[in-house]
Amino acid sequence: MGRKEQVVEKAHALMYKPEMIRNFGIAAHIDHGKTTLTDNLIYGAGLMSLELAGKEVVMDSYILESERGITILAGNISLVYDYNGKDYLINLIDTPGHVDFGGQVTRAMRAIDGAIVVVCAVEGVMPQTETVIKQALMEKVQPILFINKVDRLINELQVTPEQMQERFTKIITKVNSLIKRYASAEFKEAWQVDVKKGTVAFGSAYSNWAISYPFMQSTKLGFKEIFDHCKQEKQKELAKKLPLYKIILELTINHLPNPLTAQKYRIPHIWHGDKESQISKDMAACNRNGKLVIMVTGMKVDPHAGEVATGRVFSGTAKKGVKVFLINKMMDATLQQIGVYMSKTERFQVEDVPAGNIAAITGLRDAYAGETVAEEKIEPFEAIKHYSEPVITKSIEAKNPKDLPKLIEALRQVGKEDPTVKVQINEETGEHLISGMGELHLEIIEYMITHDKHVEIETSKPIVVYRETVMRESPEVEGKSPNRHNKFYIVVEPLEDGVYEAMMNGEIPEGRPKDMKAMANRLKEKGLDADEAKKIWQVYNRCLFIDMTKGAQYLNEAKDLILQAFEEAMDAGPLAQEKCTKVKVKIMDVKLHEDAVHRGPAQVIPAVKRAILAAMLYGDSVLLEPKQKLFISVAQEYMGAVSNDIQGRRGQILEMTQEEDLLSIVSKVPIAEMFGFAAGIRSATQGRALWTTEYLGYERLPKELQNQIVRNVRERKGLKAESPTPNDFLE
Ligand code: GDP
Repeated sequence: MGRKEQVVEKAHALMYKPEMIRNFGIAAHIDHGKTTLTDNLIYGAGLMSLELAGKEVVMDSYILESERGITILAGNISLVYDYNGKDYLINLIDTPGHVDFGGQVTRAMRAIDGAIVVVCAVEGVMPQTETVIKQALMEKVQPILFINKVDRLINELQVTPEQMQERFTKIITKVNSLIKRYASAEFKEAWQVDVKKGTVAFGSAYSNWAISYPFMQSTKLGFKEIFDHCKQEKQKELAKKLPLYKIILELTINHLPNPLTAQKYRIPHIWHGDKESQISKDMAACNRNGKLVIMVTGMKVDPHAGEVATGRVFSGTAKKGVKVFLINKMMDATLQQIGVYMSKTERFQVEDVPAGNIAAITGLRDAYAGETVAEEKIEPFEAIKHYSEPVITKSIEAKNPKDLPKLIEALRQVGKEDPTVKVQINEETGEHLISGMGELHLEIIEYMITHDKHVEIETSKPIVVYRETVMRESPEVEGKSPNRHNKFYIVVEPLEDGVYEAMMNGEIPEGRPKDMKAMANRLKEKGLDADEAKKIWQVYNRCLFIDMTKGAQYLNEAKDLILQAFEEAMDAGPLAQEKCTKVKVKIMDVKLHEDAVHRGPAQVIPAVKRAILAAMLYGDSVLLEPKQKLFISVAQEYMGAVSNDIQGRRGQILEMTQEEDLLSIVSKVPIAEMFGFAAGIRSATQGRALWTTEYLGYERLPKELQNQIVRNVRERKGLKAESPTPNDFLE
């Protein structure tokens, strides 16, 4: 039996001892050392040589990732570690560090109970650090801290031992203030990281060493000795005395919760079904003899096995042949092969995977990341929140028309592996559109299609996706059906800010509310008028449809058609047929023909849809454009060049701070103006600027640009260039 098979066998035995399991991830701002740390841990499990740890990228199986030096896909690895004569099973989930892949970070968080937050000692807490801490805490995932690149602090920045400790204190204080801000009340204090408690470690992932308070006690090596070793270039010695993997793995074993502990408080947080039900109790107790419940956190298409789902088993035991339901998809399936990942690409079969573990499963072809898979028809897990949305679109074509079926299949698979990608196929024009969270996100997808799915493609230049909304309340607009027998009276107005925000962060779900009372209370809490809150029909594209009619006859029979018209209108607004957002549509009154034959789809849908679109124009329709927050850090001397570049992109500088010679600039820039930014800033600063972006959401497009952009979008879509007037919809 090979080394890896032996590890698999040990790992499988440990899966039955939940107190010996730790499920955790490593999360960090890009370049702070997550990949290097991961390699060190794999070395610790004996799967890699020390020379390679920190120098070769094991988890990054995509060549593109290595070329760019960033980790893109979340991958899983199971390790076995012997601590004080006892074996522990460490399930490590790699989480991507680039903001374009925020959706994947959140999904990975669902599978884990703890997170090592890596912060570079030189750069300190960066925007993405804050995002990952927030994402972890929103899922009740406990963070612990690793301060990396201490060698650079000492040797490159030449700080004194006192300055070194000051920097550490600053980072720890900042991380703790974030924990205080984002953790739920019960953990605000308990999860504060603390050197003395041993929940903070310091070290150099590149040079394979680390130190934490317990190790200072046992080895009598303190910050002073660390400092001297680095100065005297004796880091190899440190790596022998204080191997990084040992310090970190022991940190996780001692301080991160095992699944038995974690599922107790995480289940009520992420699953909102009946708390008294048996399944709720089984999940909270991590009961491997209960009914099977799995939360799918990733889908991958394997060239041999087909679709492989990865997921956390919360209750029961995943075994070949178990019949399950895909709860959201409302389909059934049967589990086939069960396995564990020993690297991102190597999957080993095991007989079964019990509750508290992470399993790789085939047979769930129609599942997607976020799906709840269960033996019984239970309430699904809370939807995974995305902090980004697809704002950039490209059309994509097969170079060789013969490849079209292959391309369609490839797009279907990509959509499945990464639900933050939207694929639309226009059956009439044959044009395929892919939308993603940024330029880089789409580049990666194209790369995957050509290299993994072997389809040669051509793509258009990326285009920005706009939204349409209204600025004020419209008058009541009458929509008549083509046969003139039915009339609908519609008012639109801007949706309240609080309600819109709650929709953004998932507190108000899309769809037709099942529990009207709970929905009404939530909406009232968020600032909607109490009368309106009781009469919600549907939430769609972050827009609300409200029934304000009183005693209208036959209304219920027309409800489905009216809502279909609402959806169609919200999918293609009046200005440029872009999606609508933040609109409140109210139906005030209706007059419906008594005979159902005269109020079919061909009558109701166009009447309602046109009335909504005309009302939007009366309500001052405007375009919204997506914006990013842009964080740049650069030497003082480039301040002029960088500010010019930002302003040239209609950017707005929000904040400028200086620390020693390093200038940090925070600005807000329209995504439409960000194309070519990487090259621009590189040449403006001779490649000396570090930058990252964060998605900000939609804001109003400047008035003076609106006409031109509406024209451009309409022309691109083959519509007549002039914007329509209300009469165009009302004849
Ligand atoms: P990730 O983007 O968070 O995965 O970061 P990587 O692990 O890829 O590290 C980014 C860069 O920093 C690489 O060039 C690493 O070799 C380097 N690096 C990582 N850890 C350390 C460290 O402790 N000291 C030094 N000097 N460099 C490091």
